[in-house]
Amino acid sequence: MLMTAPASVSHRAEAAIEELIAQRKLLPGARLPSERSLAETLGVSRNILREAMNRLAAQGRIIIRPRAGAILAEPSAQWTEQMIAEPLAPLVEADPGYRHDIFEVRESLDGAAAYHAARRADAVDKDRIRRRFDAMEKLHGAGDVAAEAHADAAFHLAIAHASRNAVLTHVMSSLFGLLHTSISQSREKIYAVPLTFEALSGQHRAIMDRIVAGDADGARDAADVHLEFVRNTVRRVEEDQARTERAAAARSADLSL
Ligand SMILES: [Zn+2]
Repeated sequence: MLMTAPASVSHRAEAAIEELIAQRKLLPGARLPSERSLAETLGVSRNILREAMNRLAAQGRIIIRPRAGAILAEPSAQWTEQMIAEPLAPLVEADPGYRHDIFEVRESLDGAAAYHAARRADAVDKDRIRRRFDAMEKLHGAGDVAAEAHADAAFHLAIAHASRNAVLTHVMSSLFGLLHTSISQSREKIYAVPLTFEALSGQHRAIMDRIVAGDADGARDAADVHLEFVRNTVRRVEEDQARTERAAAARSADLSL
């Protein structure tokens, strides 16, 4: 009994710190209040507080810097890389069909990200989304489709970031990495399809406008429309490509007869 009592006090302090992080909407990199002020706010001794802080540090939730205090840790990008991207990469490499599976996941995550971003984005988030949108518009027509695809991903990641859900952000960025580094040539090719850019641009603008307006359902719907369009366009590009290849194969077969 005597042994467990202090532990439960420090566990409560740990939960109270988490609550404070949520209440003050602290983001990774933000500094936590000083040890003295935290102990006062939570009404616990410095020893109990230190115990709770050490446990949060052990979980990778905060980083304690001697004399500089504690900051909220960045959820490890390496973790998602190792746990999500690395095991999937060989599968995607071996069978392009997996790309469609990734795309399906991305579809549901993008809708959720837009939904939460509409509810949680602050002025800084909205400004970042708008700047990434402008960057995408500016790149169009410059003839660098890879850069366009990259700017498109950056726009969606800004939305994920604005969702304030660290897991969502990291999973999405891993999936983008996977789609980007593996065979995803057709994703880039969609920018070369006539009239596609105007449609994409309108869809991106609709997502952005709904987020800025704080319309969560509208933002999710707009994201769904966009992803469905991208999926259909990619499929069309791939079918056209396969048809062209079949025609070329048939022609060379004719010639060899
Ligand atoms: Zn997009």
